[in-house]
Amino acid sequence: MQVATCSCDATLFFGNRRCLQCGRMAGWCDVCQRITSLDEDGCCLHDSCGSQLVACSNRDAWDVCDRLVPASAPAGTLCRSCQLTAVAPDATIPQNIPRWAALERAKRRLLYDFQLNGYPYERLLSPLPLSFRFLADTLDEHVVTGHADGVITINLAEADPVHREQARQDFGEPQRTLIGHMRHESGHFFWQREVAESCLEQFREVFGDHESPAYEEAMPRYYEQGPPADWQQRFISQYAASHPWEDFAETFAFYLDLRSVMDTLGAHVPAFHLATHGSLAEMLGVFQRAGIVLNEVNRSLGVVDLVPEVVAPPVVEKLQFMHDAFAAVAETAAGHAE
Ligand SMILES: [Zn+2]
Ligand SMILES: [Zn+2]
Ligand SMILES: [Zn+2]
Ligand SMILES: [Zn+2]
Repeated sequence: MQVATCSCDATLFFGNRRCLQCGRMAGWCDVCQRITSLDEDGCCLHDSCGSQLVACSNRDAWDVCDRLVPASAPAGTLCRSCQLTAVAPDATIPQNIPRWAALERAKRRLLYDFQLNGYPYERLLSPLPLSFRFLADTLDEHVVTGHADGVITINLAEADPVHREQARQDFGEPQRTLIGHMRHESGHFFWQREVAESCLEQFREVFGDHESPAYEEAMPRYYEQGPPADWQQRFISQYAASHPWEDFAETFAFYLDLRSVMDTLGAHVPAFHLATHGSLAEMLGVFQRAGIVLNEVNRSLGVVDLVPEVVAPPVVEKLQFMHDAFAAVAETAAGHAE
């Protein structure tokens, strides 16, 4: 994640709502798509875009957003991230609000991932619109986290750290995070939007045939039998072994993890800066070297490994598919923009 500098010279981090040094209002400018603080006239810093900005309506009303929208927009305008939430949790229940805020925070990081990969926001709007539903279980209905035709549903309980840790133990996962959910489910969206029609043959060559066995057949079998003993030689995670669609989503999520970590390393460690725009092999090299150090740091503090994944050669091939798919979309988008 990149950082910015306030006009008082303090560093502004993603998610900051005020400058911690001078107290100026800060946030994500929805116009120029970066972190900024506001000058005395309420304008995005001039070396950014200089637009006059006000808080996103969800920031004013519910405190679940940190974005800033143009002051010229009609009252009640939501930022481009909040606009994608089709169904928000019931905000009359007080405990829902911090959970909703945590989900929106993870979603804003996901949108940054897309931006980082040159994936244009407009591709999220048509022809397959991406939207989010953050829903709590009711007495009659259990909310299943998943993706269907552009709609990503996330069970609100996932934003409860106690629930999430319990689920992590139950499923034997090395990590379970909200940004991880966002990245995984948006992988299903990306498959349907960018792969299903344009490069299905290449997908089959790398991930296998998603029609044989069919999803409905493969999933119960996975839950009954678990992954094959040699899953680590072929897949990024146990769950990826369940079906080619889940393999795609898990690998997609890992690819976004990789890009995000590289972006952060590049922003803070000059020696890593070049690799953030390099080949997949260069990025993986730095990621694995840094991963060893970061895991040791985490172990020093007694928290879970930061980089639990082992990247076997077949997984590198799958990651290359993601790398090329994003590059192809970014190239097409740049062509349209000219
Ligand atoms: Zn400041
Ligand atoms: Zn701006
Ligand atoms: Zn917002
Ligand atoms: Zn999935």
